[in-house]
Amino acid sequence: MEDWVFLLLPVAAASGWFAAQRHYARKYLIEHTHSLRKAYCRGLNYLLSEKTDKAIDAFVDLLTNDFETVETHIALGNLFRRRGEIENAIEIHENLIARDDLNPQQQESAQFELGLDYLRAGLFDRAESIFQNLVDHENSRMGALQQLLDIYQHEKDWGKAMECARKLQDLGKPPKRGETVAHFLCELAEETLCTDDDRAARQWLEDAQRADPRCARASLLMAKLEMREGRFEGALQSLKRVESQNADLIQEIMEPLRICHDRLEKPSGELIGYLGYLYETYGFESAALALAERIRSEQGAGKAIEHMLRVLESLPTAKTLNTLTGFLLEDGAETQREALIRLDRALDRMYSNAPRYTCNHCGFSGSELHWRCPSCRHWESTKPS
Ligand SMILES: [Zn+2]
Repeated sequence: MEDWVFLLLPVAAASGWFAAQRHYARKYLIEHTHSLRKAYCRGLNYLLSEKTDKAIDAFVDLLTNDFETVETHIALGNLFRRRGEIENAIEIHENLIARDDLNPQQQESAQFELGLDYLRAGLFDRAESIFQNLVDHENSRMGALQQLLDIYQHEKDWGKAMECARKLQDLGKPPKRGETVAHFLCELAEETLCTDDDRAARQWLEDAQRADPRCARASLLMAKLEMREGRFEGALQSLKRVESQNADLIQEIMEPLRICHDRLEKPSGELIGYLGYLYETYGFESAALALAERIRSEQGAGKAIEHMLRVLESLPTAKTLNTLTGFLLEDGAETQREALIRLDRALDRMYSNAPRYTCNHCGFSGSELHWRCPSCRHWESTKPS
């Protein structure tokens, strides 16, 4: 909608222009104004009914009618871009910039739109240099920084992305899609973890924790690093921080938590107590299931069945039912064993078909935890489901 609002401006400008040209033959003026208005109305009607293609044709007619306002050209270029005709959009915006009768504000607008054309065309280098130039202009600064932030994230240039995020923060602009400096630092940490540079990874993670004390991802990565280096007590502390940072991600700590407790040979009651607390406080399925598994290994299937029967009352899901059937089979109840086996298999299938993670912003779901949603590009919007 914002593109065609500009198209209204020339209507206002046109009436002023006509008023100033009184020496023109009155008859010609009336006819000309009438035909322009008709063309505008036609174009606007198409836009309002979302017939972009017809709107473009109507406005092209209008432009050939020697009506050369800058805003109309900019808006027409935008319409071409929206329709996917990037070459036309680029040509219109480049021609505008080459003109010498544009005021500074119009120059900036035309350049900004050309930057967007380049982005759509995949010409990231050209887009980047345009937006870098626009950062120096106060009116375009914020928009240009947001575009640069998108470009650097696309190119995985986390250092430059951080710079942009910080500048936007200084301008008082909250991140549009959860783009925090801490996430970019975590990306750098993950890259260095892959190359086994643990010292650098630790530094990035400490920076991430300082940049955003609520960054659960930094805690999970720090736990991974600590475990890799055999420091299980430190890892345990990192894992326990996740609860207060982002309780939705508690599922992610279950497995490493179990490993740390086992490696430290902690008293069994400690883990059972913590898992019980997580389940009672948040009612998370993952905590209930981890607790059931722990009860089974410490106290046997009978006790685990009792626990799962209680869980089933508040969490009647395929997964909890599936866990219960597994324990029932293990407990050796011979009566109706065949039926139980079938029920267990059916539940196995039901669960394996279900996506495990869902984006709470756009609904994208999949079997992997994406820190940045592949669909809507939001950071940390994906939750275990
Ligand atoms: Zn999403």
